[in-house]
Amino acid sequence: MTTILEVKDLVVAYGKVRAVKGISFTVSEGEVVTLIGTNGAGKTTTLRTISGLLPLTGGSITFQGERIDGMPAHRIVEQGLAHAPEGRRIFPRMTVEENLRLGAYARRDTGVAADLKRVFELFPVLEERRRQAAGTFSGGEQQMLAIGRSLMSRPKLLMLDEPSMGLSPLMMQRIMSTIRELVTDGTTILLVEQNAQAALELAHRGYVLEVGRIVLSDTGQQLLGNEQVRKAYLGED
Ligand code: ATP
Repeated sequence: MTTILEVKDLVVAYGKVRAVKGISFTVSEGEVVTLIGTNGAGKTTTLRTISGLLPLTGGSITFQGERIDGMPAHRIVEQGLAHAPEGRRIFPRMTVEENLRLGAYARRDTGVAADLKRVFELFPVLEERRRQAAGTFSGGEQQMLAIGRSLMSRPKLLMLDEPSMGLSPLMMQRIMSTIRELVTDGTTILLVEQNAQAALELAHRGYVLEVGRIVLSDTGQQLLGNEQVRKAYLGED
């Protein structure tokens, strides 16, 4: 399998405090890789750094064979790396369709209409309410919109930060099954989740982060069965 993303010895600090302390991991084409870990482990910091939203202190980030650390965020999107951030960050006063079209701003090809159709197939509620202001949506619907918007850039790698955060169990199931559909379609995904069970069920491989370091990595299935993981992250005694 071809490696699409390689993060090597990544260090990220807020002032003097190092939130990410030298982590290395890879994502290959067609894979779903998950980063799991408790609050404050450094998962969001890692994604924001890959996206170019935070500067790194050390290490390197290579996407499709090219160094992207140090590149401005908009150029990283243009390279084919999309990020659906934690907390959704949609534009509440814009309509659903306007939000989705913004996701395609960097594209110069003619496939935008087809991709809009595809997002509407994945999330029919977005089509029903395409002219409605996004701010009127429920948390789950906003999450769908955030994922839909990232897909509109037709990414080669989609990074999802806590897609299940704040959702009802039913809505969470729907989001997870949509992610599964994307995977079947061959989308490569880097998934950050606090819900380790859901993430590991979906992922080909996973990395466990603890206070800025990777302490364990294996296939999703192996991690699901790992006693240490079960105790610390899957709520078992
Ligand atoms: P969560 O699920 O809570 O987002 P996380 O694993 O994504 O957790 P990060 O948000 O990356 O963790 O945070 C890693 C560490 O960096 C934490 O100790 C956090 O307090 C610290 N941190 C995060 N953002 C900032 C910031 N803007 N300024 C200073 N410290 C920060």
